[in-house]
Amino acid sequence: MKNFVYNGLPSRVVFGAGALAKLPEELDRLGAKRALVLSTPEQKESAESVKRALGARASGLYDKAAMHVPIDIAEDARRVARELGADACVTVGGGSTTGLGKAIALTSTLPILAVPTTYAGSEMTPIYGITEGGAKKTGRDVRVLPKTVIYDVNLTLSLPPGLSAASGMNAIAHAVEALYSHEGNPVISIMAEEGIRALASALPRIMDDPKGLDSRGDALYGAWLCGVVLGSAGMALHHKLCHVLGGSYNLPHAETHSIVLPHAVRYNQEAARDAMRRIERALGASNAASAIFDLEKTLKLPLRLADIGMKEADLERAARIATEAPYPNPRKVEYAGVLELLRNAYAGRRPS
Ligand code: NAD
Repeated sequence: MKNFVYNGLPSRVVFGAGALAKLPEELDRLGAKRALVLSTPEQKESAESVKRALGARASGLYDKAAMHVPIDIAEDARRVARELGADACVTVGGGSTTGLGKAIALTSTLPILAVPTTYAGSEMTPIYGITEGGAKKTGRDVRVLPKTVIYDVNLTLSLPPGLSAASGMNAIAHAVEALYSHEGNPVISIMAEEGIRALASALPRIMDDPKGLDSRGDALYGAWLCGVVLGSAGMALHHKLCHVLGGSYNLPHAETHSIVLPHAVRYNQEAARDAMRRIERALGASNAASAIFDLEKTLKLPLRLADIGMKEADLERAARIATEAPYPNPRKVEYAGVLELLRNAYAGRRPS
């Protein structure tokens, strides 16, 4: 018998191949008449076509979204939204673009209609992050939770296989930590396990055929579930470590997640047996940590922090930063163990 709290987050999800065609009627449901479309410079073309499809319902396009939401871009986008009299944001892109929409919503309460094109999952969470003076500040506020999310599988077909794999493992990391979260509950565990299963089955198929609609559909479905669990249950050691490595050493977000994940799982192995059983069931394997490592090898993802810019000399400092303040994790977070974890991730050793 385990007590729990379940807190559902209100959002409407429209899922399918070609679901983007529903965008005008979904904006109408929100009562929006002058939406500002957001994208990165790389996805400007997709965003342009969304803006064209919206006709008079679009007030403009802002295409400067960037990784980790730099404060100057957030403030510039807020100004543009104000000047155009925008009454909603339509975000077309991955976590960086959704994140910019959230930065606008945080200070303006404009509703967000998110159109995700990666597996990061930000569209399902009330978590925002803004980077100022080299440090990323994150927070939770239900105002930044997108009101509507349109998952159009067609928009993910262009996500390159390498990025798909890294982004998919990033999503799996959310589900893994939700399974042993101090805020976990039975509903979230069902979603997390199903999310891991869907992504782990889809990602190798995407490597073989990046345009396959079925595998892309399974991956996006899994990403949705992993996004829900990220928004609902507090994360643990793995996310803390990735935050430290990304923030203090500027390592790439999704790759850092995939490299650290098997080692964080190994760290928690004995302290979170039920979560391990569920991960193993989802992966059809007998050891969660090594199965995750092997999946990443199959996906040809980098397996060593050494390969993505981490310096061996920085491992001790990173372990110190990650252990200086206590936070919930199944196994006590201690310097020596975390340093060993980081050394293993640095060298890319297969956990067992
Ligand atoms: P991203 O949004 O930075 O996108 C990476 C690159 O891929 C960009 O150049 C983008 O334009 C391009 N791209 C995206 N979709 C594409 C597609 N379908 N085809 C071709 N190119 C495409 O990467 P991401 O991994 O989605 O997001 C990472 C960011 O999201 C990080 O800053 C992370 O902290 C944040 N995040 C936040 C949350 C949250 O809940 N707040 C959750 C997950 C991630």
